[in-house]
Amino acid sequence: MKKNPPKNPFTGTVRSIFAFERCCWDCGSNQSVELDHIMGRESDSPFNAYVNCRKCHTNKSHKDDAKRLQTTSKFLREEGYLPNYKDREFIKKHKKLYQQICLE
Ligand SMILES: [Zn+2]
Repeated sequence: MKKNPPKNPFTGTVRSIFAFERCCWDCGSNQSVELDHIMGRESDSPFNAYVNCRKCHTNKSHKDDAKRLQTTSKFLREEGYLPNYKDREFIKKHKKLYQQICLE
């Protein structure tokens, strides 16, 4: 039996927002840097995307979910990205995590 392709891959539009982010947002490495799904593959919203190298992605802990969501939302705000309906649904779903901490 053939395996299903992974759910909710990021679209080219979403990838283009992060296109200039060449270094891992956690360790600064430029080796095997990928666009990672923060909350798993439940959504392809850019708010669910995080620039990570393979090593940090493998070692990531769900304790950091709130910090990651906030880092991405700050980045998108600075890029002037306007959330659409799907993005707002994603944010609403994880409201508690967004309220958990505040980055300066
Ligand atoms: Zn890294």
